[in-house]
Amino acid sequence: MLIAILSRRAMNTHAPQIPTGTPSKPPSLLLNQGSLGLNAHIFSVNDVYGGTFRYMTRVASENQGLETTFVDLEHADEEAIRDAIRENTKLIWVELPANPTLRLIDIPRLAQIAHSHPSHPLLLVDNTFLSPFYASPLLLGADIVLHSLTKYIDGHSDVVMGALILPPLESSTLTRAYEKLRFLQNAIGAVPSAYDSWLAQRGAKTLHLRMEAHGENALLVARALKASPHVEEVIYPGLEGDKRNDLAWRMLSPHAKKFIGPRKEGFPFSGMISFRIKGGFEAAEKFLTSARLFTLAESLGGVESLAEHPARMTHGSVPERERELLGIGEGLVRLSVGVEDGKDLVRDVLQALEKAGELRAQ
Ligand SMILES: *Cc1c(COP(=O)(O)O)cnc(C)c1O
Repeated sequence: MLIAILSRRAMNTHAPQIPTGTPSKPPSLLLNQGSLGLNAHIFSVNDVYGGTFRYMTRVASENQGLETTFVDLEHADEEAIRDAIRENTKLIWVELPANPTLRLIDIPRLAQIAHSHPSHPLLLVDNTFLSPFYASPLLLGADIVLHSLTKYIDGHSDVVMGALILPPLESSTLTRAYEKLRFLQNAIGAVPSAYDSWLAQRGAKTLHLRMEAHGENALLVARALKASPHVEEVIYPGLEGDKRNDLAWRMLSPHAKKFIGPRKEGFPFSGMISFRIKGGFEAAEKFLTSARLFTLAESLGGVESLAEHPARMTHGSVPERERELLGIGEGLVRLSVGVEDGKDLVRDVLQALEKAGELRAQ
């Protein structure tokens, strides 16, 4: 993705977005010796986005000597997290929520551990799945927020671009990080084109409208999945009864809470749903090829609904044993619920489930 680096203060004063030419990903900007210093250590989650994992293990590690430790942060207790932070740990890199199993990390708790640790690592949250509408990680204690603008912020699947967002630069560590990133962005040439920036900006203007529709539709679809006899498990943290429901509520941004109103058991929580279909791969394949409004494709966050099979598509490069540990089985299906009519989407999901069910009955 091409990238823009913003600090909230910078944005308020109309200062720097940095434009030039070559595509690059935030990992390449952040995860290198230039920005982190020699012999730095990175601490991340065991189910970090595949592209980030590949960059950490195959580029930062092999070519730049940066070591990354991957920890199961959903289950690790405070002591285990403290122990995993080393003297040279400069960056903690997490996602909210993780892809495709939608595991959630308690960001305020992690920020408190990171900021009270003598190594003072910066906490980066990849907020791509929730978008700035559903979560504001800077308000929860994160130091840097990353977005793939390609997804919800652009919203129309016509741009490949990313952004790093920093809070007002009040500490010297953050100011140094910001200055280094701006320098590296210019030096490496990792800057978006004017046309891409224009497209992403056009998308951002309707972000709040789209996110409300994505969330409302996703809640309808999640409820329909939960009621279906062909579904083993639905994962949607906003769904009543989901084991991450309380944590999901705490992660919501102030404006999302304003949209949703008083605490409800079921609430919109962005547009991503994963579910385990009964009947394993054959049933999943039948579902995916029978759905008519959900296009079978990777990527997410656009206005059109998409469906995919993580084990064979987005997470095909994760070793099988690792996939098993993460719960990415043959029956797992991931939906990116679009902004089409919610009832149409539910009808489509139900008819595709019926087809998968018939196959299982044969
Ligand atoms: C897609 C994605 C990325 C990478 O973004 P691109 O714009 O496609 O390069 C990073 N993090 C998450 C969580 C993503 O879903």
